[in-house]
Amino acid sequence: VPSIVWFRRDLRLDDNPALHAAMETGGPVIPVYIREPQHLNVGPLGAAQRWWLHHSLTALAKSLKSAGSGLTLISGKAEDVLVDLARQTGVRMVFVNRAYERHQVDRGIALELKKRDIAVRAFHGQLLQEPHAIRTGAGRAFRVFTPFWNALQKAGEPREPIGPPLKIPSQDHHHRSERLDSWGLLPKKPDWAAGFPAIWTPGEDGAREKLADFIDRKLQDYKHGRDLPSVQATSLLSPHLTHGEISPARIWHATRGMPKTASENVVHFRRELAWRDFCYSLLIEFPELDEKNWDNTFDTFQWGYDAKEFRAWTKGLTGYPIVDAGMRQLWRYGFMHNRVRMITASFLIKDLMIDWRKGEKWFRDTLVDADPANNAANWQWVAGSGADASPFFRIFNPVLQGEKFDPEGDYVREHVPELGNLDRKYIHKPFDAPKNVLDKAGIELGRAYPRPIVDHGLARDRALAAYRARTNPS
Ligand code: FAD
Repeated sequence: VPSIVWFRRDLRLDDNPALHAAMETGGPVIPVYIREPQHLNVGPLGAAQRWWLHHSLTALAKSLKSAGSGLTLISGKAEDVLVDLARQTGVRMVFVNRAYERHQVDRGIALELKKRDIAVRAFHGQLLQEPHAIRTGAGRAFRVFTPFWNALQKAGEPREPIGPPLKIPSQDHHHRSERLDSWGLLPKKPDWAAGFPAIWTPGEDGAREKLADFIDRKLQDYKHGRDLPSVQATSLLSPHLTHGEISPARIWHATRGMPKTASENVVHFRRELAWRDFCYSLLIEFPELDEKNWDNTFDTFQWGYDAKEFRAWTKGLTGYPIVDAGMRQLWRYGFMHNRVRMITASFLIKDLMIDWRKGEKWFRDTLVDADPANNAANWQWVAGSGADASPFFRIFNPVLQGEKFDPEGDYVREHVPELGNLDRKYIHKPFDAPKNVLDKAGIELGRAYPRPIVDHGLARDRALAAYRARTNPS
């Protein structure tokens, strides 16, 4: 009897428990990807992710073809598509990997299918550990990362990854499949994604290469290098993880067997991977994580909104070089370094006093790794409205952050070329540079590069007052 493997955000053959289980039935396997109506996905897919999805599905279809199979593409409501396809092909079982961000939707779909005698079998393949296994004594999600991490380590090593199948038995029966091009996932003119392929190769091969490169060249200095945006010291695996082109278990186990001298770096890297599990456990506990403040004392917070300032932030024209470099890196590559994500998010929320949800949405639309759990949890963390609230008085100073983490200004020079010739001393504060220094660097402030749109000192006081008023309403 044939079975369906329903691919969602697990676009891989390697270490794919759902695919593996379907193969174990011994019957033919029908791999399918469903383009669901947007309101059923968790938030609409961002533009940068549509680009990624197009290429990732192309890669998956190619791998399936080399394994003697193929990818069926269908648009529609998942339960309708699955019932229809099952009827045409005689399928009685659908295999999926659990997607925690769509838990509710999936439950409804499974019930609908059950009514038609089609069983859904769901597997654990997307996180290091099943979220229900890492809970507090009271059975709740941990609100703070460190105890979560301790519990995750206590739970033991993640499951052993399963290799990819070499041959996937397929069914001769021909069923309808749509053409990927007709889905219009790629940008129309102008092609704002033209710079993406310089860094990214969506698909399993690209993920495997990023992992190998990280282990060979970067892992040895991860702990120190990961905070420096001008050094390419992190794995760049996030968009591959977001689309499930590689499993976290595969990544975890690949860091085994490193020399003893690297052990501190291995632990640190695994800890970052565990942050992803942590964000998912928060999302499961609080499915409105991207819409509602975890801490409801923020519900009456007085956010401001100045459309011009928001636009300046999105375009990297705030007059604070480290913020602008981050926002332009995002535009150019669909990615931003973690340290700079924190700085730019803090700037939007605390210097511009703009609601974190506006920033979360912008990131969701522009990041290739936009992830329903990681993005929302991190934005709430920076805002101080999240589960593990950062102290509200922690307001990043964009000049000091720049000087600390990009001391030579290389990151700024790369992404804000109009400051390319500016002396190192002023690279993070061109507004303080004497006229002769600016002239020498060929910079006319207010023209080639903007003056700061807010004064950080004043903005900081304003934010502190608003945060205090919230915690202390009298
Ligand atoms: P590495 O340092 O190599 O880390 C390995 C993996 O660990 C990452 O790929 C990621 O899956 C996970 N990880 C690392 N840091 C975090 C973290 N703080 N939270 C959760 N998981 C983490 N990450 C996303 O994957 N998607 C997002 O939409 C996203 N939005 C963010 C928004 C803000 C405001 C902030 C401050 C952080 C956000 N992050 C997000 C987390 C982090 O910035 C990225 O995961 C990281 O920069 C990806 O680069 P890397 O793969 O080279 O990371």
